[in-house]
Amino acid sequence: MKSKKVNSPRVPIYRDAGFELYDAAIAADAFRQETENRREPDLYIYSRYRNPTVIAAEEEIMRLEGSEWALLTQSGMSAIDTAVSIFQERDLVKPWLFFSEIYGGTLSFAESILKKRRGLDIHNFLPVNERYDINDFENLVKSLKPVFVYIEAISNPMLIVPQASAIIKIARQYGSRVIVDNTFATPLLWRPLESGADIVIHSVTKYFSGHGNLTAGVICGNDQNLMKSAIEYRKFIGHMLSPDDAYRLHTQIQSFELRFRQQCRNAAQISEVLSNTPCIRKVWYPGLMDHPSHNEAVELFGKKGFGAMITFDFDGKNPTEKRNRRDIFIKAVSEKIKLIPSLGDHRTILLPVESVWGAKYPEPGMIRLSLGFENYDEIKTTVDQGLKAAN
Ligand code: PLP
Repeated sequence: MKSKKVNSPRVPIYRDAGFELYDAAIAADAFRQETENRREPDLYIYSRYRNPTVIAAEEEIMRLEGSEWALLTQSGMSAIDTAVSIFQERDLVKPWLFFSEIYGGTLSFAESILKKRRGLDIHNFLPVNERYDINDFENLVKSLKPVFVYIEAISNPMLIVPQASAIIKIARQYGSRVIVDNTFATPLLWRPLESGADIVIHSVTKYFSGHGNLTAGVICGNDQNLMKSAIEYRKFIGHMLSPDDAYRLHTQIQSFELRFRQQCRNAAQISEVLSNTPCIRKVWYPGLMDHPSHNEAVELFGKKGFGAMITFDFDGKNPTEKRNRRDIFIKAVSEKIKLIPSLGDHRTILLPVESVWGAKYPEPGMIRLSLGFENYDEIKTTVDQGLKAAN
């Protein structure tokens, strides 16, 4: 094929493993420049280092998070690994502080990999009655002086919203950096970098890609030194996203804002339906006035919305009756609402809490619902069918 510019309006998929460097002098120049770990190199060398299709998708996330850089990885977990590992220093074991109500995979990674294998000094900060006490947090940070504090904007499955702005302020006051997992809130509800966070990560598998057909992660920030460390880490550990996945993400992320707004609207309405159902003991949704962190959510998100996740618990005289109601509901809705252990998909999906978290949340009737962007009436009809059957 003759080399000519093709008038395609889309970003091409550059599947090259290695790029042509023409002669020894150009190759030497490209490799010299590579040691600077620039976000976008003048000359691409190798797709594990940097890839133009991946960079095009990263720029979409920079636009959404309002960040100076964004680096895509092949999963949310590899984004988390990159975000925390760039703070690891040889022979210098300093405390790292993780809030305890975060994604279970992150907690297991911290325990099994960071603590047990890498011998790092990992600490947890626990909520009391589903709320983080800001004074307790300040006292802990003052005494511990952690390298970083790791929080989630909305936790899983209790949907706790921390006093994030105050947490960031306190952490910075004592010299700690802040990493925020913003997967559940997304930049449409909150942009953590604008509140002073150092790093934002996402499981892109969820709302950014939004169709349950892609696994990816991203790490974003404004600090150029952190970016260089993250580029180097991603390159040498091999956490890079594939160009094909980046291409699909680049397409799917175009509808992210529309999708997420509809998902939040659906969640707000369904949370009201569930709250007004007698066989349901409790509903957790940050938009509901009785949610333990409703005030924190209003303060952080303003009027933008409260996310698209709901957790609720079936009532019953005993655990068996609660489990029965839960199981009847799951069966009754199963044609439209599938039991899928993920979230942020295009369709509404659910997860029984006990099957995943065991005794951590000791209410056997609990279900976590991830609202999709279907027509509200369709979801309402299905949920009503499930509730009627379980009643
Ligand atoms: N962060 C949160 C809040 C998550 O819910 C998940 C996965 O469910 C992850 C990170 C990990 O992302 P991934 O599954 O894309 O590796």
